[in-house]
Amino acid sequence: MIYLDYQATTPVAPEVAAAMQPWIEQNFANPHSPYRAGREAAAAVEVARDQVSDAIGLGGGSLAFTGSATEAINWAIKGTVEKAPSGRNRVITVQTEHAAVLDSCEWLEGRGVPITRLSVGSDGLVRLGDLKSALDDSVALVAVMLVNNEIGVIQPIGEIADLAHQAGSLMLCDAVQGLGRVQIPEGPDLVAVSAHKIHGPKGIGALWMNKGAEPAPLIHGGGQERGLRSGTLSPALCVGFGAAARLAAERFDEDHAHVEKLWTAALDAFGAGWIINGGVEQRYRGNLNIRRENIDAARLISDLRDIAFSLGSACASGSGRPSHVLRAIGLNDGEARSSVRLGFGRYTTEEELVGAISHINEAAEAQERFAA
Ligand code: PLP
Repeated sequence: MIYLDYQATTPVAPEVAAAMQPWIEQNFANPHSPYRAGREAAAAVEVARDQVSDAIGLGGGSLAFTGSATEAINWAIKGTVEKAPSGRNRVITVQTEHAAVLDSCEWLEGRGVPITRLSVGSDGLVRLGDLKSALDDSVALVAVMLVNNEIGVIQPIGEIADLAHQAGSLMLCDAVQGLGRVQIPEGPDLVAVSAHKIHGPKGIGALWMNKGAEPAPLIHGGGQERGLRSGTLSPALCVGFGAAARLAAERFDEDHAHVEKLWTAALDAFGAGWIINGGVEQRYRGNLNIRRENIDAARLISDLRDIAFSLGSACASGSGRPSHVLRAIGLNDGEARSSVRLGFGRYTTEEELVGAISHINEAAEAQERFAA
């Protein structure tokens, strides 16, 4: 199989698997236990916490581990609204956010919380003027992602955070697709990240919180994570996340250069007849969302069983609904249904990428011949 779905998840780095192994096979102690084995596990968790915080790179603040970025986002949004002073509970977000953000907002809206969803341009980017007009002293939180999971465009997070702060609001950045891939700009008060998008294990995410911006807890129980997020931590998952974050920081330039090379090779291989979805300038280039008029992308995927690529987000792919992101950038249903997303990165070779694209081209041409 040629794996080209790095936005859905990434292969676990061998260094990560090796770092996790002793915490699965030997030291199984509860990191919240007071005896030596427990304290050793707790110390390993703290090293991992620093490694993830360092990779986020915003300094200060604190970081709590969660079961996923989805949990971190739910917590950040619902917990911020919960804690907000009366008269200041509106949330501003963007139509192209991940379901974790959009569905948390919808849930709150069902309970009477006002939500503003900003549209984007055909490049997929938020217009800062729209945000400025939407902000006032009723806003508790502005939630905008760094790198879009479906089309890879990079939102101007620094400017968005500045505008939010000028209006007295907090700012949440979903940096799940950005961590290790692009620099996280200064400014957000809350940052959600996930291990499995950076060659770490599934089942662990984290919320970085600026001092004073800690949301009210969502998960209650044993009071772990300074009373902010209860539940026994998994040292193996924390250590794996830490190792993945350290590796991502160390290999940042190397991974970046590799992805740039792959992007150029991919565009060459696709050739004429394909159109990139979303802007190409402010974009993470390990995400190529591309369409070809009148092809049936779902059929392409089922025809090419040895290539793992997708229609958009892994969540949207199962639903049969055209992607909300492609719709938001102005594509009609037909254009959205003729779009595919290729995600590549650290372990993708140029040969496998170009080889896969040549099969995609052949299958697309076969569809066109059949339709003619
Ligand atoms: N936000 C974005 C942009 C994502 O791409 C994803 C995963 O697809 C998530 C949030 C949710 O992350 P997790 O799988 O850790 O719940």
